[in-house]
Amino acid sequence: MSVCPFCSSKEAPTDSKIIESRDDAHMVHLTCKRCGQAILVLVRSSGVGIQCVGIVTDLSEDDAKKLLYDRSVNIDDVLDVHEALNNEEFLLDIRERVATTRALDSQ
Ligand SMILES: [Zn+2]
Repeated sequence: MSVCPFCSSKEAPTDSKIIESRDDAHMVHLTCKRCGQAILVLVRSSGVGIQCVGIVTDLSEDDAKKLLYDRSVNIDDVLDVHEALNNEEFLLDIRERVATTRALDSQ
């Protein structure tokens, strides 16, 4: 993290801990040492480069680990969501469903 998105500090040192790694994907917990805000970042390296998805969290590193180890959420879930959000068909499908639901509601 080169710039903290919360306190905008460019020089803020961050604590970074890898929570889980799987193949080409890593879940990293970052904490800004200046403002204390934490972010969970999914870093994924693929043939085309490195993709990052950040999730603002109030989970501590330990809590994030517990959540992942309890399997309430796992790295595959995050990857699924990430892929779905990059999938135009998925987004179109959601929009159509919302439009259909609204049309039915207004009848
Ligand atoms: Zn900060």
